[in-house]
Amino acid sequence: MTASHCTDALAELVAGAGELYGRQRSARFFFDSEPQELRWVLRTTDDVVNVTIYKFPDVAVSPDLPDSHGTMIWQATYPRPAFAHGVLEAAHTVLTEHGEAGYLAKWAMHPYPVALVQDLRRLHMRDDVCDLSHDLSRP
Ligand SMILES: [Zn+2]
Repeated sequence: MTASHCTDALAELVAGAGELYGRQRSARFFFDSEPQELRWVLRTTDDVVNVTIYKFPDVAVSPDLPDSHGTMIWQATYPRPAFAHGVLEAAHTVLTEHGEAGYLAKWAMHPYPVALVQDLRRLHMRDDVCDLSHDLSRP
């Protein structure tokens, strides 16, 4: 799927994953796919994260529509540690590939979400049992 730079897509994804560590049991955000809306709905129960992505034909009107009006294009359930780790790893890959300056140059409207990534990493390390490597040092 492609997200345009009109939405701060990476930041939304990282922030959404981070929201699941508090009392909040769900998070939702969307990517503007010009003209489609790609709506992400994350729900968590018992350390499992259910990810559902809905597609709507026109982002100009769809943010007000209920999920049931969209087309489900992805649904999967992951243990929360695996989900958070995957998001962190994806963010790290982007940073390694482009660097902060390169990211801003490419994405234009939004900087690389350094603080949100740090927050998610802190929550993941604090609350999740994860056996994967966390050597996600900055390039
Ligand atoms: Zn991990």
